[in-house]
Amino acid sequence: MALVVHKYGGTSMGSVDRIKNVARRVAKWHDAGYQVVVVPSAMAGETNRLIGLAREIMPEPDQRELDMIASTGEQVSIGLLSMALKQLGKDAVSFTGWQVPVVTDTAHTKARIQSIDDRKIRENLDKGSIVIVAGFQGVNEFNEITTLGRGGSDTSAVAIAAALKADECLIYTDVDGVYTTDPRVVSEARRLKKITFEEMLEMASLGSKVLQTRSVELAGSYHVPTRVLSSLTDPEMPLEEEAKSGTLITFEEEHTDMESTVISGIAFSRDEAKITVLGVPDRPGIASQILGAIANANIEVDMIIQNQSVGGKTDFTFTVPRPDYNRAMDILNNQVKAEIGASDIIGDAKVSKVSAIGIGMRSHVGVASKMFSTLFSEGINILMISTSEIKISVIIDEKYMELAVRALHKAFGLEQ
Ligand code: ASP
Ligand code: MG
Repeated sequence: MALVVHKYGGTSMGSVDRIKNVARRVAKWHDAGYQVVVVPSAMAGETNRLIGLAREIMPEPDQRELDMIASTGEQVSIGLLSMALKQLGKDAVSFTGWQVPVVTDTAHTKARIQSIDDRKIRENLDKGSIVIVAGFQGVNEFNEITTLGRGGSDTSAVAIAAALKADECLIYTDVDGVYTTDPRVVSEARRLKKITFEEMLEMASLGSKVLQTRSVELAGSYHVPTRVLSSLTDPEMPLEEEAKSGTLITFEEEHTDMESTVISGIAFSRDEAKITVLGVPDRPGIASQILGAIANANIEVDMIIQNQSVGGKTDFTFTVPRPDYNRAMDILNNQVKAEIGASDIIGDAKVSKVSAIGIGMRSHVGVASKMFSTLFSEGINILMISTSEIKISVIIDEKYMELAVRALHKAFGLEQ
């Protein structure tokens, strides 16, 4: 019998009526003979509300207690959904993370899943029940409740699908799939029927926030076929149609149109910042001294460029997320500058990153030159470039970001 995991996000669980719709949809799959495990998020806004309450009492919340509080949103969801299914005459049973158990490491508020015991879930599926497992939460070796980081129920669902070797993990959400780019920026953006894990990973980490990046990594390493699809469709729509809708995240071997599509999407990240350390003595250890200090402050460095040295001095440029810009500048000015004898630190917090992504790049040449000539013809100056096997990214002035995305989307023929 085929086994599927359904994940429903906060919007899909947002009200009693929506929960009833989720129940109807899940019941439809169960009626069709599927074993179904459902992983819901907390009702929309609920996790924020809970964290807000915690902060009202303790501005820097105790991490253990914060997990105790934040994890309750999902506990409400699973109970309500289970009841909604029972009202439809279905056998359903809900479990929190610790009841399964979903075992995580000890890092409160950002725990990683270590193992999932599938016995209780299987037992209940085999009895004919629909099993509902709380997303976003687990339990550590000390029996403490943990949570997986914001958006973590995607990761819960994929991990549970991996543990059960499910036939598919269906992520029901408020968008109907993965698009060639953000439709709010390019109205001609198209929904992709398929995308490879690698491309999806680049899309996810580059700011197309459809799925939590960790869930995509997990799907890739455990080969979990994962589908992103809409939860806003009619719950009674024909199952055959629903099962083919949305975007399937697949493996490269299965990606049939690999030859025809060179670029699958244009991703962007608006809020970047660029920092240059000027006049750095060109000697071993410099990069690690600069970037080490930044990493120690838990700031993620993305693109890095070191210039050719002139007279024993070089310039060192890198990007950080814009919210971390001021902190990074402080560290460099107050600590690193004197330490390494740099002449100056300059920065620009108004830059954005635009990337063309596609596994077809591996077998096609000329993608980079097409990207650069497209930007040139729009009069957009490129500030930094970085490439990988399946991606080319540029840093540009933020005011040209949308123009660049539109021009590239068109140049790479993503509209048809
Ligand atoms: N409820 C959690 C959050 O808001 C987990 C999730 O929605 O995936 O972050
Ligand atoms: Mg989400």
